[in-house]
Amino acid sequence: MLYRLKTDLRLSIITLLGVSGLIGITPFAVMRFLQGNVLAGAVDLAILLSIFGGMVYAWVTGDTGRSGLFMAVICAGGAVAVGAIVGEPGLFWIYPVLVTSFFLTESRYAIAINIAGVMGLMVHGVAFSSSVQMWTFATTAVVVSCCAYAFAHRNENQRERLEHLATVDPLTGVKNRRSMDQELAVAVSVYARNGISQGLVLLDIDHFKKVNDVYGHSVGDEVLKELVSLVQQNIRRSDQVFRFGGEEFVLLMPGVDEVGLRAVMHNLQEIIRRFLKHPGGSVTASFGVAVLRADESPEDWFSRADAALYTAKESGRDQVVYADELATPAAPVLPA
Ligand code: GH3
Ligand code: MG
Ligand code: MG
Repeated sequence: MLYRLKTDLRLSIITLLGVSGLIGITPFAVMRFLQGNVLAGAVDLAILLSIFGGMVYAWVTGDTGRSGLFMAVICAGGAVAVGAIVGEPGLFWIYPVLVTSFFLTESRYAIAINIAGVMGLMVHGVAFSSSVQMWTFATTAVVVSCCAYAFAHRNENQRERLEHLATVDPLTGVKNRRSMDQELAVAVSVYARNGISQGLVLLDIDHFKKVNDVYGHSVGDEVLKELVSLVQQNIRRSDQVFRFGGEEFVLLMPGVDEVGLRAVMHNLQEIIRRFLKHPGGSVTASFGVAVLRADESPEDWFSRADAALYTAKESGRDQVVYADELATPAAPVLPA
């Protein structure tokens, strides 16, 4: 629960709004019912229930896009209704709404919601004692909205940059091991749900240390980039490449059957043999391939591909080994 709050900004804003809404609005709802202002009390109660419902929906479904938009609309609509019913004191509620809308939903929706909320109050007009007050309200509302937009926009940009840094390998531009762990888990659940077959390939460059030792680290870097480029040109758009670490890469191939997988691997091995070069000649790679089995965990699946890669290295390198073809220990013969 804490992890979700830490990693999902929108969910944390929804929760913050939900909890502070419950704490902040409940006394007003009670007070308005006690004062006999049933309409204002009913509006407060409806806002409370909607905010609470939106928060629960976000936690249960994880769909913070819809619940955030819903809560932004409810809060703006609620602030307008309160302003229209109780007059001037209700106007103050619009300010937190103008700010939070940018954190609850996309900027374009937040701008539309804020404009609609401010215009709604101005057109209704009852909450304002003079036109000077109304235009002061409009101007301050615009200033608050612009500041909130600038802050939310910057925050979103930084979040995207951080996510990029955390998931992409800077040398080759492909996703890193962290992303791979997530995608393997997704592939396992896709297979369990839809039965779409999933191929996993571990690729390790042969004798790469020698390339570095003889020609230097920067030549080694160029070989890594060239390998990624060759691989990307020869796989489908739906296939994914990850840099597992060092000179090891992982390919995830959804929806590929046994025959297709063999054709792809044969082609890839040939392409690398022919086109991947260092200044002194060709570079080859070894491959371990495993097709996901029913009820297999991502860890077991990966281990089978790793064992196949190990066998490829052991049997001379520059080979493709399929995990399903590895000898499995014979079952013990039980005495009669
Ligand atoms: P094998 O055929 O058994 O795989 O031998 P190998 O030399 O390829 O494997 P080993 O694990 O001994 O060496 C891997 C080398 O990869 C060692 C390390 O210097 C190099 N390496 C790891 N990351 C990078 C990198 O980002 N750039 C460069 N240039 N080299 C790297
Ligand atoms: Mg190697
Ligand atoms: Mg290696």
